Amino acid sequence: LLLAYDPAKRLARLQVNLTNSLVGVRLMYDLIDEEPELKDAADARPLGVTAGEVRFEDVSFSYGEGSALNGLTFVAEAGRTTALVGASGAGKSTVFALIERFYDPASGRIAIDGQALSGVSLASLRRSIAYVSQDTFLFDLSVRDNIRLGRPEASDEEVMQAARDANAHDFITAMPKGYDSSVGEGGDQLSGGQRQRIAIARAMLRNAPILLLDEATSALDAESEAKVQAALERLMQGRTTLVIAHRLSTVMHADKIVVMDRGRCVEEGTHVALNARDGIYRRLCDLQFRAGQREAAPAGADPVEPG
Ligand code: ADP
Ligand code: MG
Repeated sequence: LLLAYDPAKRLARLQVNLTNSLVGVRLMYDLIDEEPELKDAADARPLGVTAGEVRFEDVSFSYGEGSALNGLTFVAEAGRTTALVGASGAGKSTVFALIERFYDPASGRIAIDGQALSGVSLASLRRSIAYVSQDTFLFDLSVRDNIRLGRPEASDEEVMQAARDANAHDFITAMPKGYDSSVGEGGDQLSGGQRQRIAIARAMLRNAPILLLDEATSALDAESEAKVQAALERLMQGRTTLVIAHRLSTVMHADKIVVMDRGRCVEEGTHVALNARDGIYRRLCDLQFRAGQREAAPAGADPVEPG
């Protein structure tokens, strides 16, 4: 790829952090005055999501030097939760970037319900996907307008219902101006857990069949954590979820874990199955999840692992 390195990187980051709503993407292009990298194929069709299966077939991709994905094959089954795990640099974020089609693979195929992403319109693809992370971008607008970015035509009542579903309604109404309160620049008037719940409310409103979730790495206070967790579980109901997992409880509950190493899938299965093997997953689990869990939570607060 002969991209100007820095702008491309900045673009990708901004795009991924933004709402992924057309409004957000458009706003972003206005802000940085750059054309989107990828354009629709001349004969692009709208993506029609039926079940919501996401399939990677022998996908390779490079940002320019080295390879970020190297023959990656896996299926995220419709309506299920697939956890991506692997060391830093393994390619997890790149999987998300390719699903959102910020880049096209160098080779291989990515398809949703059998439709290759290269043949569908970007607008229809991005409408079908919600992205939630710890640092989902909040604009210096009211709480209401930030949530509404998930679906600009939503009514106030729908915004409020999404906030209730995201466990955000109570803290919002406790703010001096309620839904009209400003979130501040980048959301700096809100705590980390509150920002996350605004992002979840936005995704609720969006009601997309495919959810990309990048789990928080830094610990929230216990009350926020529980509320964020409950809201996320509600959001994941009935959707195909791909989650970049940082928590032991997430991998334990995932329907499938895809273990990535240097851009490919080296193991896959459930936590119980993978943990029974003396493989990469078990070592990763010991290092990353159990160690992280001990640091992040007070003693005794962790779920006890099954037998
Ligand atoms: P993970 O999310 O598992 O930590 P990434 O998908 O972020 O892994 O990275 C995979 C590889 O691609 C790494 O070698 C990383 O340095 C590289 N990479 C990631 N993003 C970019 C980018 N925007 N530009 C150049 N290289 C990148
Ligand atoms: Mg990453």
